[in-house]
Amino acid sequence: MRIYCNFFKFIFRAMALLLAVNGPLSAQELIAGMSEENITPPVGFPHYRGISTGVHDSLYAKTLYLRQGQTEMAVVSCDLLWISREVSTRTRLKIASELGIPFAHVLISGTHSHTSPAYDEDILELNEHIRKETPSTEITNGVEYQDWLCERIFLSVRKAQESSKESVLLRNSVNVDSLSYNRRFIMADGRVKTNPGILNPEAIRTEGPIDPEFNILVVKQESGDLSGGLFNFSNHCDTKGGTEFSADFPAFISQVLKDKLGNEFISLYGQGACGNLNHVNVRKKEQLTSESIGVDLASNVLTNMPNLENLAGYSLKVESEIVYAPLQHFTEEELQWANQMHPSDLYGESEFFQLRRPMKIRSLARIRNNEAIPPTVPSGKWTLPLEVQVFQVNSDVAIVGLPGEVFVELGLAIKKGSPFKNTLIIELTNSHIAYVPTRDAFDRGGYETINSRLAPGGGEMMVESAIRLLKEIRKN
Ligand SMILES: [Zn+2]
Repeated sequence: MRIYCNFFKFIFRAMALLLAVNGPLSAQELIAGMSEENITPPVGFPHYRGISTGVHDSLYAKTLYLRQGQTEMAVVSCDLLWISREVSTRTRLKIASELGIPFAHVLISGTHSHTSPAYDEDILELNEHIRKETPSTEITNGVEYQDWLCERIFLSVRKAQESSKESVLLRNSVNVDSLSYNRRFIMADGRVKTNPGILNPEAIRTEGPIDPEFNILVVKQESGDLSGGLFNFSNHCDTKGGTEFSADFPAFISQVLKDKLGNEFISLYGQGACGNLNHVNVRKKEQLTSESIGVDLASNVLTNMPNLENLAGYSLKVESEIVYAPLQHFTEEELQWANQMHPSDLYGESEFFQLRRPMKIRSLARIRNNEAIPPTVPSGKWTLPLEVQVFQVNSDVAIVGLPGEVFVELGLAIKKGSPFKNTLIIELTNSHIAYVPTRDAFDRGGYETINSRLAPGGGEMMVESAIRLLKEIRKN
């Protein structure tokens, strides 16, 4: 009997050892790290709205790094209006070659802070001061800032990788329906108007929904210490105003959580699909502020801390795909018109659209020169390669990365079609393409469709790709 007992003990130990090396025990181990690197340019550097006049709060590149076995991934979020293709590509190549994290496994996003630097030509065009003066030295500074920015993002990923420890992820999704509004309104004359103005009686109803889902994903080390969290909500980061640098409402999420949970706690804000959402309630005189939004979201994190679900059965996987989305068309005559110092009113539009339309055409010309694929037949369309990324955490949670300011309906369609219980959508990843409206929105027109670089259908192509990848990744 004793011999049998020892024999079974031996077999049991051998199996446990084997499993610890190769089997499900080691497969469940999750290594995670978070970090933040300051990316604030010096005061005086061009800002989205003019020349920067100060720093309200510092801008950061923040990383959530995850590893399971040989599989590594990094989600990066920068307090910037967007990430240019050049910055993301250069940085991801360096990360792949020096840190060994595959190019496709790195997602670099912008939070869409409108109080951030004008570091590429498209943002410089939006900058009123520079539009008037066009000082070439400041554009050169933008190039220098880009080099520094790439280095800082790289450093943030390296630090997150170096400091990573065995951890668990805690998650919850909370319904927050009082902080964001669909900003496109059907007006009394039947047309669509974006931001029709507070208490405007002509604004009959909103064109579409909001996405109230606030996703909370907290990293807890084996020691019990909290490294930080990924917080994902859909709302334009344009609530602060002024010409001081600021991360907008995510800065307040970060500050409140540092005050309550310790200075080491890193709050990474992943911007959801919010192309047509913002914080403006047109039915009310009093408006939300960056502070009230940030504090509200942070309180939601704190009150839900006890209810966070401990994720198990980690199964890190990444799939990505390039979608070739059709670009909007412009003629040679339109480009000549757009390149004039003061283009005449060609379309009979408001002063705002008279500025935006030629800017869009100039931007499209740059996209053709630098990023787009020419048509193969004369009547064909130029297309733009866009990367759709899907990161699986476990069989319940996945993260989707999409470029552009994605309309909320497209984000909701991905969530609806996803086989995961909880799908986090992060927009403005890896390249800048301005708005991604739905086909229906293109039919109705309005600001975002005029300012979009994509032709109708590009957004739906990304949705289709994301849902297919989500289904594939979960099956495999
Ligand atoms: Zn925007």
